Amino acid sequence: MNASSIAVATHCPYCALQCGMHLDSDRRVLADPKFPVNQGGLCVKGWTAAATLDHAARLRAPLVRGAGGRLEPASWEEALARIVAGIGDVQRRCGRDAVGVFGGGSLTNEKAYLLGKFARVALGTSNIDYNGRFCMSSAAAAAQRAFGIDRGLPFPLADIAQADVILLAGSNVAETMPPVMRYFEAQQAAGGTLIAVDPRRTTTAQWAKTHLQLRPGSDTALANGLLHVLVREHLVDEAYVAARTEGFGEALRISASYWPECVERLTGVPEALLVEAARMLGRAERPMILTARGPEQQAHGVDNALAYINVALALGAVGKPFSGFGTITGQGNGQGGREHGQKADQLPGYRRIDDPAARAHIARVWNVPVETMPGPGRSAFELLDAIGSEGGVRALLVFGSNPAVSAPDGFRVARRLGALDLLVVADFFLSETAALADVVLPSAQWAEEDGTTTNLEGRVIRRRTAADPPEGVRTDIEILCELAARLGKRAHFSYSTSQDVFEELRRATQGAPADYSGITYQRIDAEDGVFWPCPDVDHPGTPRLFADRFPTPSGRAAFHAVAHAVPVDNRDDQYPLYLTTGRVLAQYQSGTQTRHVPELCDAAPRPLAEMHPATAKAYGIGAGDRVRLTTRRGGGTFTVKLTQSIREDTVFVPFHWGGEESINRLTSSALDPVSRMPELKVCAVRVSAAGSEAAGERP
Ligand code: SF4
Repeated sequence: MNASSIAVATHCPYCALQCGMHLDSDRRVLADPKFPVNQGGLCVKGWTAAATLDHAARLRAPLVRGAGGRLEPASWEEALARIVAGIGDVQRRCGRDAVGVFGGGSLTNEKAYLLGKFARVALGTSNIDYNGRFCMSSAAAAAQRAFGIDRGLPFPLADIAQADVILLAGSNVAETMPPVMRYFEAQQAAGGTLIAVDPRRTTTAQWAKTHLQLRPGSDTALANGLLHVLVREHLVDEAYVAARTEGFGEALRISASYWPECVERLTGVPEALLVEAARMLGRAERPMILTARGPEQQAHGVDNALAYINVALALGAVGKPFSGFGTITGQGNGQGGREHGQKADQLPGYRRIDDPAARAHIARVWNVPVETMPGPGRSAFELLDAIGSEGGVRALLVFGSNPAVSAPDGFRVARRLGALDLLVVADFFLSETAALADVVLPSAQWAEEDGTTTNLEGRVIRRRTAADPPEGVRTDIEILCELAARLGKRAHFSYSTSQDVFEELRRATQGAPADYSGITYQRIDAEDGVFWPCPDVDHPGTPRLFADRFPTPSGRAAFHAVAHAVPVDNRDDQYPLYLTTGRVLAQYQSGTQTRHVPELCDAAPRPLAEMHPATAKAYGIGAGDRVRLTTRRGGGTFTVKLTQSIREDTVFVPFHWGGEESINRLTSSALDPVSRMPELKVCAVRVSAAGSEAAGERP
């Protein structure tokens, strides 16, 4: 660093670990050795994060679709006037709910909060949801049902290092958030054991002592099998179950039929491995179960998560230090983004939008008549899927999301987006969704504005302004306030800084499950973040939940009786393999940011379809061949990577790319009945050599 460089402490723009880093005035990233979560570690995405700031492809002026159908540079005045006129036109013709808002789990808490308020107060629409519905909603719903509250990890990450046996289901943390491996390495160094559950022998699974390589879509059967063995071998913590839980009898009754040999048939996991894993967990003093998108992104995702929670409760693990149940959040603000009102059924602080007391509190904070506040709206995929239909949205405002790539059944979503009367996208690059828009607004990035995020532990932290945004770019908060003013709601949206928004958020969440009222910017600075709930400024915050009671009506955690069910789009003679999707180290989510970073593109330039050599041989396919993948929704062509690490009945493709390279064009939009989470992790697929089926064919 030269003498004149000034480094500002902030956090990585990508995943939910929210690693601490410094950005200096020469746009260099320096890892923060003092931030307790990453302690100086960063992954390649973090090290290269500054490359997006001055990128040549950065949007620097609004774009408006002209008469010739092309996006043309425009003034802010022209763009904002077009948006306000379009909203007015749609709402006059079709009602207030005909305008929808689509947010994202990467938005800061302040933006997520303001977006929810903008939808309900400035637009008066019930139709707001966000891409976290594709990410965390099953975990959130399961935790709410079992524990009465949803915080991804109800304990600090550091607890991982002291757990003696950890079962990690459906997460490849060694690739997706490498700095977190320091905790698993410390756990192993202390004699601890990791059991990985994954259809792929990922880097993480290779690192584990035991790998349960289950069939995609069979998590509930596996977890019920674990519970069965715990019961059979008298490894249930009966005192804990009696004192702190309810509903064990029904879960016990269901699990009785999950004999290990039966579970082997359902999951493909050898009986002996299942029994060994259950014994390791049952004999551990400090067992821990962690889940992630593998079991959750399924049409039975809530049941899957509940089945793993049943195991954690039977072990007596939840609410004790260095053990318990947690879920590993994915997006940068995946935790805070789901707490503050950009979800169709929620108000800030995890308040329910259909709860009269919650509505009354928020109406007071927002200074609006409670009867003007809309009720619950459509969930993310349902909101997109209703576009163009009777009662569906006709205008959509998208902030911090790229649903043209991240939503399932992408051919269908593209048709729906094309049916809009008005599509507005605020982003810093021309994402695939922005390219479809009528108006594109250039917005500021992570290092160009202040705000808070809440990491996967529930630790509220600060991003700080470390760089000036390019001329012509505005922050999302400025954009929302200006639009609200033009929609006649200026008095409700007069904030000068993100801290102003946070101060209102504190009041809005006071007394709520996710209570931020005792958290201030100053405290975050002084304390390396503050864990919610934190109900007053003298409260220390809550690193560990559930020590004494669960926030349920009875104070007990609830077992749930859940049964195995096959994927909605299950394989058959026509589509004989499973397709599963996920992330790779060098790309992130829909790739809008990481596909603009040369080092990351060099490392992962395109999606590769991972197949087992035996499967490829059966289809006459070799390494590097182009292969056609076809599901009941359409087809796409991908380059093959042969690997022994995948099940013979499964094909894996990462989802970070758009257009012809988008695997989400093929994935299933079957929804979990509770969380409305799409079944992104499993569907049936047919494989053939490229050219043997017509490109772009419909099934
Ligand atoms: Fe840390 Fe995640 Fe950023 Fe990598 S992407 S540096 S793991 S926050």
